[in-house]
Amino acid sequence: MIIDNLIVRLDGVRRSPSGWLARCPSHDDTNPSLSIRKGDKGVLLRCWVGCSIDEICASIGVAVRDLFYDNAQPFDAGAQRQRSMEKALKQKRAKARLMVDARRIDCFREADAVINTAIGVDISTWSDEQLETVMEVISDAWLVLRDEERTKIADAA
Ligand SMILES: [Zn+2]
Repeated sequence: MIIDNLIVRLDGVRRSPSGWLARCPSHDDTNPSLSIRKGDKGVLLRCWVGCSIDEICASIGVAVRDLFYDNAQPFDAGAQRQRSMEKALKQKRAKARLMVDARRIDCFREADAVINTAIGVDISTWSDEQLETVMEVISDAWLVLRDEERTKIADAA
């Protein structure tokens, strides 16, 4: 709200060193006891007799939130929405990256376990089919481990 829009709703308005003085609309005021000042974020109202901001606003038909300058600047609200959207997207990306990393580590562990299990196993009595199946599993595991090593080297570079 622009301060002029507020001033016109008040009676007995006069300039003061810090802003304006007016008769408080919320109590039977003969000697102006309402101080009006421009704050950083909005219009500051104070009744020296002790009326609350809600009572003062209600008496002149404005909402307390109307005292803030932002409500007259919808562009700022848009910028703020944009910022919070970017923040949410950033968090989403970070979470997705974590999940990918976790999956990669799971795969790596599994491959490591397969190869460790194969070490020292006596294959002399195995059929060709058994050997082929196991060789496939182990070569897959080996590829996973090799890719993991390459990724580590690429990350370090
Ligand atoms: Zn008052």
